[in-house]
Amino acid sequence: VPLEKAQQEAEKYNLMLPLDLGARGSCTVGGNISTNAGGNMVIKYGMMRDSVLGLEAVLADGQIMTSMNQMLKNNSGYDLKQLFIGTEGTLGFITKAVLRLREKPKSTNTALLAIDSFDDVIKILKYIDKGLGGNLSAYEVMWKNFYEVITKTGSNHTPPLPGNHNYYVLIETSGADQEKDLDHFEKLLEMGLENKMIKDVIIAQSESDRKKLWAIRDDVEQHYQEGPVKMFDVSMPISEMENYVLEVNKRFSCIWDNYKCVVFGHVGDGNLHLIGGVGTDNVDEIHAMEECIYEPLKPISGAVSAEHGIGLEKKNYLHISRSETEINLMKSLKKALDPNSILNPGKVFD
Ligand SMILES: Cc1cc2nc3c(=O)[nH]c(=O)nc-3n(C[C@H](O)[C@H](O)[C@H](O)COP(=O)(O)OP(=O)(O)OC[C@H]3O[C@@H](n4cnc5c(N)ncnc54)[C@H](O)[C@@H]3O)c2cc1C
Repeated sequence: VPLEKAQQEAEKYNLMLPLDLGARGSCTVGGNISTNAGGNMVIKYGMMRDSVLGLEAVLADGQIMTSMNQMLKNNSGYDLKQLFIGTEGTLGFITKAVLRLREKPKSTNTALLAIDSFDDVIKILKYIDKGLGGNLSAYEVMWKNFYEVITKTGSNHTPPLPGNHNYYVLIETSGADQEKDLDHFEKLLEMGLENKMIKDVIIAQSESDRKKLWAIRDDVEQHYQEGPVKMFDVSMPISEMENYVLEVNKRFSCIWDNYKCVVFGHVGDGNLHLIGGVGTDNVDEIHAMEECIYEPLKPISGAVSAEHGIGLEKKNYLHISRSETEINLMKSLKKALDPNSILNPGKVFD
C-alpha cells in the first residue's frame, strides 16, 4: 500500500497516520516499516516503529507469523514485531500491519525563521519546545547553502525571507485551538525576535503559504541539477552538529579545491542530511567523500544512518556506529531466522 493511500484512508475517518515524507507517493507502508522511516513529524510522534502496533510477516522457511496486536500495551513475552521493523527485509517479508492512527490536530501553525548562529538554533529549539508544552511537531533546519540554491532567481520558489542569514528553520506546531495557538505562537516568536535570537520570521497565514514554505524544504531535487552529488543521512547529539559540519568541510577541503557540502535536516531529531559533491562520480572519489562524512561520527557516537537504513551502500561503515558485539548479535539473529540467507542477502552486513 503506498504511504499516501494509507494517509488518505486515515483522513476519511478524520484521523492521521503520523508519518509523512517526500516519497509519500511512491514508497509503501511495508517499505516504511522495514526501514523504520522517520520523516517530518518524528519530534512529536516518533518514527514508524512508534506507529506499528502489530504485523504479519512471512519468514524465510515459509511460515507466516501473524502478530496483529491492536493494544498499546502487550508485554506477553517478546515483542516479535520489532524483529521486522527497521531490519530492511532481512528477517522476514511484511505482508500486513496494524497501524496506530492519531487524532488529527485541530490547529497547525507554521513559520520560517532566520537565525545567525547555531547556538541560537539550539536555544530556539529548547525555548519553542518548552513554550509550546509538547505541541512542536517539526523543527527542520536549512543551512544557508541549502536555502540559497532553492530560492535563487529562476528557481521555483520566491524567497520568503532574504538569503543573508546562516540558518533557516521551518517550525510547525500542532494543537487543539487555532486562534489561541496562533496567538501563543506569535508571542513566543516575538519574544525570540526581541531578544535577538531570531533575526527574521514569516508566519504562514494560509494553507497555501504553509505549502509554499514546506515546498522549499522538500525541494531537495534542485541540488541534483548542478553536477553529480550524493545524499547522506546521519545522526548525532544536536550539541555536536556545528562542529561535525565544520569537521566534514575541513576534511573535504584537504582533498578537493572545489566541492559541495550542502546541509539540511530534521535537527529536532538529531538528524542531518548532507549533499556532497566533488565534481565526479568516480568510485574512489565517492569512497573518499564517504570517509569524510562517516569517520567524524565515531568520536561523537553518531550514526551512519538516521532513517534511510544501511542497505548495500553503507554496510562497510556499520562498524562506525555499532560495536562488534552488536553486529555479531545481528548476525546471530539473521542466522537463526534465515539460515540460508535468502531474504535480502548481503544487505546490512555480509
Ligand atoms: C524524495 C524522498 C524523500 C525521503 N524522505 C525521507 C524522510 O524524510 N525520512 C525517511 O525516513 N526516509 C525518507 N526517504 C526514504 C524512505 O524512507 C524510503 O524510501 C521508504 O521508507 C522506503 O519505502 P519503499 O516502499 O520505497 O521501500 P523500498 O525502497 O522499495 O525498500 C526499502 C527496503 O525495504 C525492503 N522492503 C520493502 N518492502 C518490504 C516489505 N513489505 N517487507 C519487508 N521488507 C521490505 C526492501 O527490500 C528494501 O531493503 C525518502 C525517500 C525519497 C525518495
